[in-house]
Amino acid sequence: MTSSSVGEVSLADLPIRADLRGRSPYGAPQIDVPVRLNTNENPYPPPPGLVEDLAEAVRRDAAGLNRYPDRDALALRADLAAYLGHGLDSARVWAANGSNEVLQQILQAFGGPGRTALGFEPSYSMHPIITTGCSTEWISGAREDDFGLDPGKAIAAIEEHRPDLVFLTSPNNPTGTALPPATIAAVVEAAPGMVVVDEAYFEFARSGTPSALTLLPEHPRLIVTRTMSKAFAMAGTRLGYLAAHPAVIEALLLVRLPYHLSTLTQAAARVALAHREALLGTVDELRAERDRTVAWLRGKGLKAADSDANFVLFGEFPQRRAVWEGLLARGVLIREVGPPEWLRVSIGTGDEMAAFRAALEAVL
Ligand SMILES: *Cc1c(COP(=O)(O)O)cnc(C)c1O
Repeated sequence: MTSSSVGEVSLADLPIRADLRGRSPYGAPQIDVPVRLNTNENPYPPPPGLVEDLAEAVRRDAAGLNRYPDRDALALRADLAAYLGHGLDSARVWAANGSNEVLQQILQAFGGPGRTALGFEPSYSMHPIITTGCSTEWISGAREDDFGLDPGKAIAAIEEHRPDLVFLTSPNNPTGTALPPATIAAVVEAAPGMVVVDEAYFEFARSGTPSALTLLPEHPRLIVTRTMSKAFAMAGTRLGYLAAHPAVIEALLLVRLPYHLSTLTQAAARVALAHREALLGTVDELRAERDRTVAWLRGKGLKAADSDANFVLFGEFPQRRAVWEGLLARGVLIREVGPPEWLRVSIGTGDEMAAFRAALEAVL
């Protein structure tokens, strides 16, 4: 049936849930340009040895694809626990198709109609999108002018709203700001419900920055999420994970779809973990490039936020759209995100950052 045979039907004509009406989907543009610095991917492709081992693993597992995968992904979860350390084991680790799916499962289990989730913005745009997608009310708290979080104000917001979930992103996206563990601990102690610390960029934090994983033993309502999409250079694999008390994992088993992680995804993630030294070997280079980028932007008289991630938020541009478009016209795609006059650039290779600097100088 073609669309003309049923007339022009738009989304507004469908009996969609009232709370989804008028909303926009997540939409980082996927534009094919020479220099893509817009979604915080690792610019270095997986090394040839990993590609070889992955091809071998796929060949091995392909012969068994008539069967469902290991529903509980136990071998992968054990590998992830070993990577995280902190005395974790497979009972304390959970995995899904990207940390976005992990977050959705958390909302499915701990959010829902009549419940609320609080986050401190600017932060990751998917937190409110996943929250409202799970019929949970989003409450927008605020970060400070330097994009940090004032523990006293955070606790006041928690006491005012009594949210069922609190999101903390550290290092934060799109600002790059890492939170001190004392702030995270204060929030966990004040929160009446679950606290999710999104550590998608943890591996890029400046050395000495402690992970919220250190707080897990004393806090059964704390969840720390991670991903293989950023430092691990595996965004295409779609593998995210979390660490939490075993009872939290039991809750997630109630909402996960059976066999949600395909045999091939599990195999790819395990191969990547086996090659972690090579994959994470690019992190130091990206951190150094990030610090150079911050210094260069400030040298140009611009503002650049301190960053513990693989991107830099910079500004301020009264016409930020024009700057974004000017860069795009020169083959450099960055992200129009964050506070109104700021832009975010992901850290690429040395050559890509040189192209970014040249394009920005031309635009300015
Ligand atoms: C990129 C990102 C994620 C990762 O999502 P995946 O689904 O694992 O690719 C999660 N949280 C934040 C804050 C991010 O920026």
